[in-house]
Amino acid sequence: MAKKEFKAESKRLLEMMVNSIYSQKEIFLRELISNASDAIDKMYYKALTDDSVNFDQDNFFIKVSTDKEQRTLTIEDTGIGMTQDELEKNLGTIAESGSLAFKKENDVKDGHDIIGQFGVGFYSAFMVADSVTVFSKAFGSDEAYKWESNGTDGYTIEPAEKDSTGTKIIIQLKENSEDENYDDFLQEYELKSIVKKYSDFIRYPIKMDVTVHKPKEDGEDNETEEVLEEQTVNSMVPIWRKNKSELTDEDYENFYNEKRYGFDKPLKHVHINVDGTIRYNAILFIPETMPFDYYSKEFEKGLELYSSGVLIMDKCADLLPDYFSFVKGMVDSEDLSLNISREILQHDRQLKMIAKNIKSKIKSQLQSLLKEDREKYVKFYESFGRQLKYGVYTDFGSNKDDLQDLLMFYSSKEKKLVTLDEYVSRMPEDQKYVYYATGESYDRIEKLPQTEMVSDKGYEILYFTEDVDEFAIKMLREYKEKEFKNVSSGDLGLDTDDDKNEEDEKAADENKELFEEMKSILGDKIKDVRMSKRLKSHPVCLTTEGEVTIEMEKILQSMPE
Ligand code: ADP
Ligand code: MG
Repeated sequence: MAKKEFKAESKRLLEMMVNSIYSQKEIFLRELISNASDAIDKMYYKALTDDSVNFDQDNFFIKVSTDKEQRTLTIEDTGIGMTQDELEKNLGTIAESGSLAFKKENDVKDGHDIIGQFGVGFYSAFMVADSVTVFSKAFGSDEAYKWESNGTDGYTIEPAEKDSTGTKIIIQLKENSEDENYDDFLQEYELKSIVKKYSDFIRYPIKMDVTVHKPKEDGEDNETEEVLEEQTVNSMVPIWRKNKSELTDEDYENFYNEKRYGFDKPLKHVHINVDGTIRYNAILFIPETMPFDYYSKEFEKGLELYSSGVLIMDKCADLLPDYFSFVKGMVDSEDLSLNISREILQHDRQLKMIAKNIKSKIKSQLQSLLKEDREKYVKFYESFGRQLKYGVYTDFGSNKDDLQDLLMFYSSKEKKLVTLDEYVSRMPEDQKYVYYATGESYDRIEKLPQTEMVSDKGYEILYFTEDVDEFAIKMLREYKEKEFKNVSSGDLGLDTDDDKNEEDEKAADENKELFEEMKSILGDKIKDVRMSKRLKSHPVCLTTEGEVTIEMEKILQSMPE
């Protein structure tokens, strides 16, 4: 049988792909299982549209098995199979997707689940294989064929024996090298966890022979023996496809823990099913406690991204704005393709729409948490409030509008965290500004001379103790048309302000010498010494001129260049 060469482009593409598209070798298994699932889907689809075809759920499965001596890994399915022609076309040409063609030919409705469409997944097998052998018997045909290739030179196709309809792919694993141990793919435990990780929610059973310990038939009481038992390794129905009404809080918590999103109990979960111009399912969690590395460089935000139930990315950062980086969970969409790379994903329109949608869902979830369960919200805010404030500070766009209602600050009046809305809604009519004071702690702020005057007027003051607070508020500028005002700024908008009158001038005159003396001692540490009416029980206070306050100056000076 003459060997056929891959088309030239294919050859180059193949090399490129094997080396660059996929970051991890193990995903070849995901690709082959997805193809197998697609092939079974096609049978399912045939049965839907053709009465003569029977689809008995029990007859459709995927089997993964190994031969340690031969160092082969086999993935077998009972799907639609391939004719000689199809083997040639689909496996002989890279970027030829039989699945896409199938969808077009059969006018498969959008909602259908066939995953493949790019025609490169199959080749990922060559990341781990020295050679790949495919036996396939197409549905409705009596003939079976064998396709074989070592990936670089080309492939052969010849008639072969195969009893049942479907496809069997045998991978001859590469020799182990210094940095790669291909034998891992022969280990039961390893294989099982790869299947679980990427293909848990494939809707057909993925079977494996698994070693189990059974009581020995004619042995002593405690004697056991190892036997191989065929097990279904995947759970098949993804929780996010289930009906919300069937699920309990506990189901979501289990999912959260199973997925290792966190070890705490999530404060809140959202289950989203969107079926409009964009379609996706998502389960999102707001954690209760902060991951230990949350405010460090090591922390990586992102949601798990699935395409039709198949994991394509562990942490898709593009799905979350930075200020919601604490959110954990997953998104599944039929509109995304499996083979998509990180770079392409960034520009994906669908993904952008999903991200936008998710952002507004999170926002409304937080708003409702604030309204309905204040205690929980405060708990959340104590962990992640700082991130929201960073969000206000670092974006000039719409972050502000998204976040301002979620902010909380400690109130001089309430002695607890309050929202800006609460503050503004109880402002006396004559109060012009939203007052705040900055300092290291609530205690220290309380003792600031500058707060006295404002408090005496009966006005509430927000206490800022975190470095980001004042920066964020400067970015907001105002809330509900009320400007923010630092109690140590010059013009406080109080009628007792330092407006000059004769009496003041006289007093200033009398103390001129004292002030000059003070100025000469303090030198360029200060700009001026002035009389103030703002002080009551304190003899002196420091103020600043202009936008940058003392606290901000301190922070700016402490920042690395
Ligand atoms: P994609 O899945 O994106 O179409 P692949 O490279 O993964 O691309 O597969 C190429 C084509 O080969 C598929 O579209 C399908 O037509 C065919 N194919 C691959 N594996 C199987 C299989 N197990 N059973 C039937 N057809 C298959
Ligand atoms: Mg595929």
